[in-house]
Amino acid sequence: MLDKHRNPNGTYDGVGVMSEMTGLSRAEMMALAEQVRANSARLHACRYHEFEQSPSTAPMRSLTHQRYVCKNCGGEIRYHEWRWHEDGRRPKP
Ligand SMILES: [Zn+2]
Repeated sequence: MLDKHRNPNGTYDGVGVMSEMTGLSRAEMMALAEQVRANSARLHACRYHEFEQSPSTAPMRSLTHQRYVCKNCGGEIRYHEWRWHEDGRRPKP
């Protein structure tokens, strides 16, 4: 399966491989990568995170499927990232 994603120079076309593994189109993969990039840029630029449970995951019973959105930057993190964040909470500036 990897062979058809091999570039002429011997490297692999990572997006092509991922696309086949996930069943997402190349455009969807790129959009997803862009979302991840934009999200982490938001989170890094934020001076003070104030996370609240994301309404999109709130109906889910599983704690580890929860996502949390910062009220200040709109950045989104997963449950385990949120746990670490809350554990290392700094005092408000
Ligand atoms: Zn924030």
